[in-house]
Amino acid sequence: MGDEERRILVVGGGISGMTAAVEAAETGAEVVIVEKNPYLGGRVASLNEYFPKLCPPTCGLEINFRRIKQNPNIRFHTLAEVESISGSPGDYEVTVKINPRYVNDNCTVCGKCGEVCETEIPNLVNYGMDKVKAAYLPHPMAFPFQYVLAPEIIGTPEAQKCADACEYSAINLEMEARTLTYKVGAVVWATGWAPYEAANIDYLGFGRIPNVITSVMFERLAAPNGPTGGKILRPSDGKEVQSVAFVQCAGSRDENHLPYCSGVCCLASLKQATYVRDRLPQSKAYIYYIDVRAMGKYEDFYTKVDADENVTLTKSKIARISEDPETGGVLLEGEDISQGSLVKQVADMAVLAVGMVPGTAVAKPNLDMEYDDFGFVTSSGASGIVPAGCVKAPMEVAASVQDSTAAALIAIQRTMGR
Ligand SMILES: Cc1cc2nc3c(=O)[nH]c(=O)nc-3n(C[C@H](O)[C@H](O)[C@H](O)COP(=O)(O)OP(=O)(O)OC[C@H]3O[C@@H](n4cnc5c(N)ncnc54)[C@H](O)[C@@H]3O)c2cc1C
Repeated sequence: MGDEERRILVVGGGISGMTAAVEAAETGAEVVIVEKNPYLGGRVASLNEYFPKLCPPTCGLEINFRRIKQNPNIRFHTLAEVESISGSPGDYEVTVKINPRYVNDNCTVCGKCGEVCETEIPNLVNYGMDKVKAAYLPHPMAFPFQYVLAPEIIGTPEAQKCADACEYSAINLEMEARTLTYKVGAVVWATGWAPYEAANIDYLGFGRIPNVITSVMFERLAAPNGPTGGKILRPSDGKEVQSVAFVQCAGSRDENHLPYCSGVCCLASLKQATYVRDRLPQSKAYIYYIDVRAMGKYEDFYTKVDADENVTLTKSKIARISEDPETGGVLLEGEDISQGSLVKQVADMAVLAVGMVPGTAVAKPNLDMEYDDFGFVTSSGASGIVPAGCVKAPMEVAASVQDSTAAALIAIQRTMGR
């Protein structure tokens, strides 16, 4: 069997795609990763800490970056997307479009181009909570560790100013988009998830009330490399928060929004309550839940967080969030289902635990894959296109890694015509 038939294309360079890639490559298969962002790591790179161990995301990502760097069987393209896939298991032809980074391997991350650049663009790693220069390093642990020039400044005198400031000839404004063709035997589809659009849940006030944010934004507020340097500050006035209310199932398990449970949100909010509690001894976290879903080994984590007397868990569906004029914070109203009483709680900030929507909910690739009503991929991979990780169902990192290891094995079998 030739190298091309054994080659595997992995679409999406998050924890799932990287895992599938390294597992397949370490058995000797050639792997090509295609990632649309300028860096690998996906949404895990935007977390502050992982539950249940509360370690930083570097701990899972760096080892994968090292395995990728050290394995000559793996090639990866960032700023890249698949244009077409044709053929059948064992014999696919794939075209990949790679957009220009305008920065080459000479980049030492000295930051001189960013210093002279004046144009700013929304910082997507921080979910638009701040801006970055149009010559930027996506985030401090970005892999590849290289600057990028945003297309917004290309063709302007500013881009030339950035190039002139670079002492290492690392900026090449002549770079153009390229299309590459690969022959591969199987494809792993690991394009992950996006947070549900919180502005759709009108009664919770996101987008209208500055101190209502989403769980993914809260990860960035707590992160040392986030917009506030890890200080949890109230967006409306920059005050350090003393109390945070976490609203579970924000749009989830709700026929009007996402009827399904995203599985990880309860654990994410329990984790985020520890971010609040670790910062100020007198701080308070309130969690409003329908059911706490902390299955199997995660039960211990739930029990530990619940034991903190400054973390209050209330079985309640929050019906309304409004601004509290007295404190400048937010007022949450709903029903305490266990007590049969009304909830009225003021907090500095409300965090909406929004669900996970698969990338394939919006854009379904024209490939031999099946989907459920919400856009998650349900096919088994028999067609040679093997789904992996959160594109199949919401799952945490440990489950994504397990699922992607299985996907690598299926992909290897497909390349062998099994
Ligand atoms: C608030 C919150 C906190 C969480 N905290 C934890 C935690 O503490 N511990 C834990 O275990 N889990 C946590 N999770 C879950 C964790 O984020 C997921 O398990 C993980 O992101 C799954 O990785 P993935 O690779 O499947 O998807 P993603 O992380 O979404 O990666 C997908 C990758 O594919 C790329 N991509 C998408 N479309 C294309 C395309 N068309 N072409 C090329 N590339 C594409 C994306 O850019 C991305 O890099 C949390 C989730 C939430 C919502």
